[in-house]
Amino acid sequence: MRIETRAVRARACHTTTTGDVAPPIHLSTTFERDPDGQPRRGFVYARSESPNREALEAALADLDGGAAAVAFPSGAAAISAVLAALPKGAAVVLPRDLYHGARTLVHELGPRLDLMPRTVSVGDLLAGTVSLPSQPGLLWIETPSNPNLEITDIRAAVAVARRAGWWVAVDGTWATPVLQRPLELGADLVVHSTTKYLGGHSDVLGGAVVLGASAAAFEPQIRAWQQVAGAVPSAFDCWLVLRGLTTLPLRVRAHSAHARALAEALVGHPRLVRVAYPGLPDDPGHAVAASQMQDGFGGMLAIEVDGGREAAFRLLQRLRLFTRATSLGGVESLAEHRASVEGEHTRAPEGLIRLSIGLEHPDDLIEDLMAGLAGL
Ligand SMILES: *Cc1c(COP(=O)(O)O)cnc(C)c1O
Repeated sequence: MRIETRAVRARACHTTTTGDVAPPIHLSTTFERDPDGQPRRGFVYARSESPNREALEAALADLDGGAAAVAFPSGAAAISAVLAALPKGAAVVLPRDLYHGARTLVHELGPRLDLMPRTVSVGDLLAGTVSLPSQPGLLWIETPSNPNLEITDIRAAVAVARRAGWWVAVDGTWATPVLQRPLELGADLVVHSTTKYLGGHSDVLGGAVVLGASAAAFEPQIRAWQQVAGAVPSAFDCWLVLRGLTTLPLRVRAHSAHARALAEALVGHPRLVRVAYPGLPDDPGHAVAASQMQDGFGGMLAIEVDGGREAAFRLLQRLRLFTRATSLGGVESLAEHRASVEGEHTRAPEGLIRLSIGLEHPDDLIEDLMAGLAGL
């Protein structure tokens, strides 16, 4: 079955005695056992296993082509679970351009778990001018990356990692399994913040780790972080993300088409220094993105305003259809001055505004941005 069908059918996997078409939300924290002490349907206690979580995990594994998925209460909790599953002494190599929360998390939590975080230029790594240290390690990939929308060749990164005996994890939040499936390109693990496109409506926090067959050895540790350490999403949160998945393919294609229309309308604008969008034919990442993504290049866009921070804030104040807020992947368009959000060590230029393109009519969004830019 195609991804649209699988996304819709994901909600049909509940079995109920009443024949519900939309799945019920199971709030019970505990489940009755049979007289001989056996759990009746495999459920004992909701931290260990829950019907809504199981349905969500099955759907997430299926969409990414994974062997298993483990759902978490946030993307950050999913990243933490991956770090906790690595052997002590392992290195974690991060790219320069990266979601700043992931960088902070790896640097804060990594050393406590006896991991060694390092940052490299992925370009240098793929060109062979720097190499991975000879110790067990995880190469972390984010493509398209935050905030500069840089593209990493996943197949090439996997090849470099394999030669060093390393694992590869890809943060799939921005691309979603609709546009990019890293496990099919050789990666071992995919991490999602389901808070973003998978939930899709800016009303639920969540995360997930999807494991490829090559990552089976990590599953017990990642499950322990969820079930034993207690990093569990609520039944309602699982239900909301599962509902989001049913429309994910349609939404992501529309987000991508709208972002592309905006990028094409904005490129070359005299008040902009740069429009970063991998769907633009002249974008430095376009060819690689086209080779590993399908059906679009995503709904995220970065524009760099001429005049730095001050001009960027003036533009933000003038926009009517973009809400000034962080996060992404919801139906509404959001705009954010990334440098002030990320603080001291940001790689975002002072004039950079990150746009999450929503499902409004793209012409309305273009008109809003053009009017804002005209007033600068
Ligand atoms: C938001 C985000 C995260 C973190 O997810 P939370 O759900 O906020 O914990 C991780 N990676 C990327 C790329 C994100 O955009």
